[in-house]
Amino acid sequence: MMTVLFTCKNCGSAIHVYPSVDAHKIQCDVCQAEQEVKFDHNHEQSILKDCPSCERKDFYSQKDFNRKLGVMLFVAAAVISTIMLYYGINPIWYLSTFIVLYALDFVLFRRLKQIAICYKCQTIFKEVANIDEIPGFNHEMNDRIIYSDHNFHGKPLDH
Ligand SMILES: [Zn+2]
Ligand SMILES: [Zn+2]
Repeated sequence: MMTVLFTCKNCGSAIHVYPSVDAHKIQCDVCQAEQEVKFDHNHEQSILKDCPSCERKDFYSQKDFNRKLGVMLFVAAAVISTIMLYYGINPIWYLSTFIVLYALDFVLFRRLKQIAICYKCQTIFKEVANIDEIPGFNHEMNDRIIYSDHNFHGKPLDH
């Protein structure tokens, strides 16, 4: 099922919500502020056409990657290889630590799912059924939506 990650307009905390047409308001767990949401039957079926927060139709997709994990793997490799060097272990092993971790990082990255993000309000949508219909990030669209409040009505620019 689609998960929606709203940003609290009051304190900026993330608010996780499962779409439901009966939910008209969501509440922030951190500051208790409420904000209005508009879910429709598409959302209940994990189909993303309209943003439940700002009601726009302009979204982009990207990999849901975890930068922290990549950094952690790199630090682990550095620590392991330093220990190996200290004990005078064959440099082949030292190199292979990096290769294994690089491969692991690659596999993890490849397995990551696509998520959709609203240009206007930055709401994040996970497990979107029609994710293949949502194009990648477009700088021109982003600038026009953010700085001149342009509305593309779900018709992305194609270059
Ligand atoms: Zn809040
Ligand atoms: Zn939005």
